[in-house]
Amino acid sequence: MSLPQPRPGVLTLKPYVATHGKTTQQRVIKLSANEGALGPSPKAVEAYKAMAGNLHRYPEGGSGTLAHAIAKKHGLDEARVICGNGSDELIEVIVKAFAGVGDEVIYTQYGFRMFPITTQSLGATPVMAPEKDFKVDIDAILEKVTERTRIVFLANPNNPTGSYNSIEEIRSLHARLPENIVLVLDAAYAEFVSKNDYSAGIDIVEGAQNVIMLRTFSKLYALAGLRLGWCYGSAYLIDILNRVRGPFNVNLAAQAAGIAALEDTAFQEKARAHNEKMVPWTLDAFARLGLECVPTVANFFLVRFPSDPAKNADAALAFMNSRGILVREMRSYNLPDYLRFSVGTEEEMKIVVDTLAEFLT
Ligand code: PMP
Repeated sequence: MSLPQPRPGVLTLKPYVATHGKTTQQRVIKLSANEGALGPSPKAVEAYKAMAGNLHRYPEGGSGTLAHAIAKKHGLDEARVICGNGSDELIEVIVKAFAGVGDEVIYTQYGFRMFPITTQSLGATPVMAPEKDFKVDIDAILEKVTERTRIVFLANPNNPTGSYNSIEEIRSLHARLPENIVLVLDAAYAEFVSKNDYSAGIDIVEGAQNVIMLRTFSKLYALAGLRLGWCYGSAYLIDILNRVRGPFNVNLAAQAAGIAALEDTAFQEKARAHNEKMVPWTLDAFARLGLECVPTVANFFLVRFPSDPAKNADAALAFMNSRGILVREMRSYNLPDYLRFSVGTEEEMKIVVDTLAEFLT
């Protein structure tokens, strides 16, 4: 008898593994997943703990109170906010709702890996649009559009490159994209960006029927472990997504902690200021070590290592692992000369720079 077979395409998938090497050190400096450098907001932790006595209850289906708090903070229509178990889940909800076997979903060369993985796992076909100089190329996306395209995913800022596209570029993409294609603007790192010509996409969503903005509490809000994301779109799209979304998809503790984190503006400011200080500090220090970094607007950056096998990215990762430092390997993006570093605490970044100085001499 033959064994159960998955749907076509599943067996060619590789599981998403965030590889950062291995360490046996007791003191671990984890800079491999773009998490919050300063730990969670103490107010969010308090709200999380306060839920312990209610664990026998289902969470609020539809996360209405949290959606209300999100809408209030950003000036949105709360009926058009959907919360999810991380933005990862919302990516899945979007693909499930709009693409199936025979349909195409466009993602960009260095864009978030879950776009093609989710697409393929749901039976649709991922189509890669090349990037130029580590930046999303709007024309290249448009060149990939066919009659079968259902969704375009674009991370802005992009991960792992740390680059961004201006609001004008996004407007131009949207204007040239057929209206029957869903444009997903994944703005997971929006809160870190301080560029005048950047927009997370709310203004584009407001003027369109076919745009969804995706956000997360995993980065600036530093709640990655709780899994909490949200999206905003037209009433038309949100109605469709709500039909596919699980009824209790966001757990009780995540909803409570998310509401508290939104209220803790002092924590948000501190996290933003920390990143604004540490990014230039670290990039300067890396430049002094002769390491080339890709310019970034987010809380992580790509670093190029020399090709000499004694000093290359593999050797650097192994050396850092031996000192308890975990950073993200870039082979899955076909960038074997690069490693991606998240911004950590000031103390952690000083240790990283000292360790690299030792490695390179
Ligand atoms: N989008 C991008 C661009 C990301 O980098 C990440 C996390 N690495 C996500 C989405 C997923 O975030 P979440 O933790 O909300 O699932």
